[in-house]
Amino acid sequence: MTDTVTKEQLAAAADALRRGELVAFPTETVYGLGADARSSAAVRRIYEAKGRPSNNPLIVHISAIADIEAYADLSRSFNPALVRERLQKLSHLFPGPLSVVLPSSPAIAPEVRAGGDTVALRVPAHPVALELLRTFGGPVAAPSANPSNYVSPTTAEHVRQGLGGKVACILDGGPCHVGLESTVLSLINPTPQVLRPGAVTRDQLEGALGCTVDGPNKQADSELVALLSPGLLEKHYSPRTPVVLNSALTSASPLPERIGAILFSPQQLSFTPTHTVLLSSSGELAAVAAGLFSALREMDSRGLELIVVDTCEPVGLGEAIMDRLLRAAAR
Ligand code: AMP
Ligand code: MG
Repeated sequence: MTDTVTKEQLAAAADALRRGELVAFPTETVYGLGADARSSAAVRRIYEAKGRPSNNPLIVHISAIADIEAYADLSRSFNPALVRERLQKLSHLFPGPLSVVLPSSPAIAPEVRAGGDTVALRVPAHPVALELLRTFGGPVAAPSANPSNYVSPTTAEHVRQGLGGKVACILDGGPCHVGLESTVLSLINPTPQVLRPGAVTRDQLEGALGCTVDGPNKQADSELVALLSPGLLEKHYSPRTPVVLNSALTSASPLPERIGAILFSPQQLSFTPTHTVLLSSSGELAAVAAGLFSALREMDSRGLELIVVDTCEPVGLGEAIMDRLLRAAAR
């Protein structure tokens, strides 16, 4: 059916979803842990399997943006005509690594929305995910397929390691191309707001929408504050081994013996790492994003005492990369 997954495997996965079971599947961002988004019982299983707090809402995956009004109730928007127009202006970004938050239709189980009245919807740009959604024929709620707070999975093997016993099946579509979770864009208020940076950048969104798009924090220098004191950010996406940013090291920083270094481009370091992963030979951010989570997991499996990670300018795709790294490095 697709390169890596057979028609039989897809049919079995869709049947598991119909029975209210959990299915892990590849998307272009990270692997998702899916359940029928209309079923409270099925969705509760996601929270149980991940150990996810019930106040953290899930993204609903659909096979076509044309279906959006089956799951979002735009009549409850601040301005239904304007929101429809905005969705139209974003249409070239679907399928893709962009989730849009809209007023929810009652078709979506309340557990998906963590009790709120909005829903995040996304059309994944991955042939296996799309084929699963079409075969199942309904909306699939899917957070990243990892135990809550650990690094998101970008291969089927990562899913097996973290949730292997807890899912009906894992569809293997190979490594994820983007490697970072989707951009979450809220269209709830008159000024659109990026709630979580991802591969679809704020510049791209402002260009498409022709209006200002707020960032995750409205304070002008929030990025700078975050860079200076990552401790202010909530810890998330985090390996077990402590993570520090290379830019935060000084000649006075006490360093342990066994250090892993994750580099975005070849460079001289102020210390000698035990193990190094080079994500790009030229600092290409798309390659950094695609390899970052795998590198963090690999470092975590090596019995190191510290992981030192390179940094980049927090602009464009760099905003999403630095967002994940600051959270991984938060204490
Ligand atoms: P995950 O799929 O694990 O990457 O997490 C999904 C993320 O999407 C959540 O942590 C929220 O940040 C965001 N999200 C999902 N649904 C909503 C919603 N209704 N309103 C705002 N943010 C949402
Ligand atoms: Mg997640």
